[in-house]
Amino acid sequence: MKLSLFFLIIIICPFIFFGTIKSSNQKEINNHTIEYEPTLNKTTDNYSKVVALTFDDGPSSYTDEILDVLEKYNVTATFFVVGTNLNTKYNNTMARLIKLGNEVGIHGYSHKEFTKIKQSKVVEEIEYTNKLLKGFNIEAKYIRPPYGSINNKLKKIIEYPIILWNVDTLDWKYKDALKIYNNSIDDIHDGSIILMHDHYLSSVKALDLIIPKLQEDGYKIVNITELFSLKDINLENGKTYRSAK
Ligand SMILES: [Zn+2]
Repeated sequence: MKLSLFFLIIIICPFIFFGTIKSSNQKEINNHTIEYEPTLNKTTDNYSKVVALTFDDGPSSYTDEILDVLEKYNVTATFFVVGTNLNTKYNNTMARLIKLGNEVGIHGYSHKEFTKIKQSKVVEEIEYTNKLLKGFNIEAKYIRPPYGSINNKLKKIIEYPIILWNVDTLDWKYKDALKIYNNSIDDIHDGSIILMHDHYLSSVKALDLIIPKLQEDGYKIVNITELFSLKDINLENGKTYRSAK
């Protein structure tokens, strides 16, 4: 009788032990998720300076690394995606990007310069990309034309606010984290819209320098919606915005 009890304990113990480990891991995962849930109510925060981070041309194989950096500093951004990049390869990346509270705008379907194609093609570029975004249960809020190229005729047919930038980090040109940082950090002021790209490793590293410096200098780093909302500016369709001032 005692022997069978001994064996019973030997058999049951590992289940209890590993069961405990699993439940503690589960808790960690849950805590992790809760910790990084986006805080959308920014009205109680008291920041005197605010800037928006924006990323063009993704999603790409570096988008997840950009998200890692944003997550590290508890920051969200706006991603202007290219329709042709919204393939199944990046489904998980896009789902993560959205879940973390980042927002998505359209940077064209094929990245063709809007001012160099027919107006009907511009509409198609936007519609195709928005259709793909609907697959992620979101709709684009903004348009950023490729190369920032826009004219008055196009403004009349684009039924979204057109978000440009006033700080170009030139990450596409320098491809060196320190150069990107040095090129942009002094140009950033209250209300700035910062342009970066999420398809260079050097941008990931530069971001890891830019964010802590801005936070140290008292900046709140937000996405486009939050930036204009904090500045009490109502965005209008067909109007261009380079900063929130
Ligand atoms: Zn672009």
